[in-house]
Amino acid sequence: MDRPAPPDCTPESLGFEAALAQVLGTVTPLPGSETVTLEDALGRVLALPLIAGMDLQPWPNSAMDGYAYAVADTEAAIGAGLVLAGTSLAGHPFAGRLGHGQCVRILTGAILPDGADTVVMQEQATVVDGRVRVQRAVPVGANVRAPGEDVRGGQAVLPAGSRLGPAQIALAAALGQATVTVHRRPRVALFTSGDELTPLGQPLGLGGIYDSNRYLLRAMLQELGATVVDLGIVADDPAAVRAAFAAARDRADVVISSGGVSVGDADYVRDVFAEFGDIHFWRIAMKPGRPLAFGRLGDTWFFGLPGNPVSTAVTFHEFVRPALRLLEGETPPPPLRFDLPLLEPLHKAPGRLDFQRGIVGLGPEGRPGVRSAGAQGSHVMSSLAAANCLLVLPADSGDLPAGAVVTVELLPWPSTPVASD
Ligand code: AMP
Ligand code: MG
Repeated sequence: MDRPAPPDCTPESLGFEAALAQVLGTVTPLPGSETVTLEDALGRVLALPLIAGMDLQPWPNSAMDGYAYAVADTEAAIGAGLVLAGTSLAGHPFAGRLGHGQCVRILTGAILPDGADTVVMQEQATVVDGRVRVQRAVPVGANVRAPGEDVRGGQAVLPAGSRLGPAQIALAAALGQATVTVHRRPRVALFTSGDELTPLGQPLGLGGIYDSNRYLLRAMLQELGATVVDLGIVADDPAAVRAAFAAARDRADVVISSGGVSVGDADYVRDVFAEFGDIHFWRIAMKPGRPLAFGRLGDTWFFGLPGNPVSTAVTFHEFVRPALRLLEGETPPPPLRFDLPLLEPLHKAPGRLDFQRGIVGLGPEGRPGVRSAGAQGSHVMSSLAAANCLLVLPADSGDLPAGAVVTVELLPWPSTPVASD
């Protein structure tokens, strides 16, 4: 049962933006959260905001190795010198209060003693006979890290929906937060379909190919923190596809398939899914990746991706990735796209919005630019491995000369350096 199509599209060919808006406007965060230790928090999404339970820095402390004193003593500091009253080391504060005309030897990270309000760096001071002379006046608060300068206690430092990377985990640790409450990982069931698909470890029969998409999708899902339920290779046979959906139902939050979603004689995924759930089948006006199915099976979302490996990767990146991020409770920003000049001429056939594999790098004069990552057929996996970006080329664009400005979107995956010819 199809929902009404948005006004700016036809069933034959839906605009990319309209399809994306429909996917992102439909999925909602999965219920459920858990508390994990910071050691296990990498890549997880906060279900509750992280509220600072303390100031950061917690104490006024020195940003330099030097001498701590009161700016009120500047005249003595520049003239006769200050009496060295002791030391303040990181973790070993100076006991007591600084008296008039006194200073304390202080090292980076050590607490500023009571009575001091500034630090002169050691390179700008000399010690003669136990007295410290400062070369020139230093403003109050110089080289002192103030309490709460970084984060104030009570502040919501990381909002709910933040994905935790190294910097966010370090921030939580600096605030003494040993655990965080995160959204649960989405469970994603995965199958590939096609009679030609051969599992790794088996010899290829005539016309066979290895099932690379299962590894592609599994890796892209792992990178997003999903728990993968691998349903294996499914034959081009309606009964087999039916069994796969039956197995996936109720076991996963999302089912992803690759292949069998076009309109060929052996493409059963779409029709079989329609027996189970509510499906949109789109021929999207984009290249690569024209056919895409999106649907709902009970509480489970379904993405039927095209079988050509690059089409699978690009449709996953553009549609499934932001949808999964939403399901995980994150608020994904729109993809960061920016303009760069082409370092070489580029071939583009007018007609469809084209996501070409590209490499952002430096041109001959050391200026940033972008060039093609190689052959652009939707079966060409070597240029996918080489690419660090997608060139987003509008439908009406044709061939482009070197120097033409194009829109670039960086890819989140590692790219393999290729020898430039
Ligand atoms: P399909 O979408 O089933 O029409 O497949 C389109 C093309 O992608 C065909 O050349 C398939 O052999 C290829 N293909 C389909 N599934 C996979 C897969 N899992 N791994 C690699 N290539 C695939
Ligand atoms: Mg097929």
